[in-house]
Amino acid sequence: MTRFEPNLRIPGPTGLPPSVREAGGRQMINHRGPEFAAMLGRILEGMRPFFGTSSDLAMLSCAGTGGLEAAVVNTLSPGDRVLGVSIGSFGDRFAQIASAYGADVTRLEVEWGKAADPVAIAAAVRAGPSYRAVLLTHNETSTGVMNPIPDLVAAVRASAPDALVLVDSVSGLGAVPFEMDAWGIDVVVTGSQKAWMAAPGLAMVAASPRAWAAMETARMPRYYLDLRMHRDAHAGGQTPWTPAIAVVYQVDEGLRLMHAETAAGIFARHEACAAAARAGLEALGFELFADPAVRSKTVTAAVVPDGLDWKAFNGEIRRRGLILAGGQGKLSGRIFRMGHLGSVTVGEIIDALATIEEVSLAAGRDVVPGAGVAAGQRAALESAGVAAAVASAAVASAAAAGA
Ligand code: PLP
Repeated sequence: MTRFEPNLRIPGPTGLPPSVREAGGRQMINHRGPEFAAMLGRILEGMRPFFGTSSDLAMLSCAGTGGLEAAVVNTLSPGDRVLGVSIGSFGDRFAQIASAYGADVTRLEVEWGKAADPVAIAAAVRAGPSYRAVLLTHNETSTGVMNPIPDLVAAVRASAPDALVLVDSVSGLGAVPFEMDAWGIDVVVTGSQKAWMAAPGLAMVAASPRAWAAMETARMPRYYLDLRMHRDAHAGGQTPWTPAIAVVYQVDEGLRLMHAETAAGIFARHEACAAAARAGLEALGFELFADPAVRSKTVTAAVVPDGLDWKAFNGEIRRRGLILAGGQGKLSGRIFRMGHLGSVTVGEIIDALATIEEVSLAAGRDVVPGAGVAAGQRAALESAGVAAAVASAAVASAAAAGA
């Protein structure tokens, strides 16, 4: 980070590495030509290991929400019974999309800040009608909770083997291990502005063989987001409609950096950043919002303490160039969130903690100078993956230098 740039610590869009920014400024090309075909091929193949699938992927030019809509409208029919498991506002949104297209949605609401419980899901699936699909959120960005997706999917599969499992991993995939095929997931969605260190504008969707088969009989209306049209166009190195080429360039470059860093390095770096954020905020007297057992690796949510004028406090933070995210929906004004995904480094987290510490001291909060930074550094160092994270950062910067 330079002194002229803010430390953008929201959970997406994320700050971009220099070579990714430069890639976005490149001249346009013919999206029906060989250069685009080669780039699309690299992206689809380059993403596949992060999805953990051998199935076909589709790259859509739309926000992550468009990817969620694609998951719903391609696999379901009006009147289909759907269980929408919600642990926060993005789980609510997934269920709303299904309702909007005429699915008969039953909600399983989980207290915000907690993860879904596999036993409760199994009971809900067994107690309900014969569900056509279950909607799950992998990383609930609004609460800072990462659901134990393999356990939840296993619970659904054991109780309702025929139900399709649709997963929102918009803010998880690419930052943490994910095994779509091994875990038995039918559709998973992610977005370019999250772990992929690129600008917003692309949603990537992977579907299992039985989800692709379901698309042949599903009757919800669809055209722009018809995944079969995308898959067929991708087979010829194209997209069915004009893609967001500038973002495609960026995802291509971001993936080059990610492969140089290695998946293990990326995952370790996210672990270390998450550990630093949690420990640092706690040392600064903030209670973390999420259940400790299921805290997210990509975003940390902290409770706004009683008596703290958050608007004024955050104003001082912003004045110093640190951009945090507020709470969403019913958590508006009650929590704030620090994003740590994409090209994030431990240094950026320590920098953010230093800013919050300085503003805390200025505001007269009961904080020991240096406590947040020290705790953050210690936690990052103790994080299991720190050696890998440091090594991968070196590889990544070498790769960026060679860009
Ligand atoms: N799902 C999750 C978990 C998200 O974090 C987000 C965005 O923050 C979305 C869905 C929606 O993505 P978009 O804002 O790109 O539509």
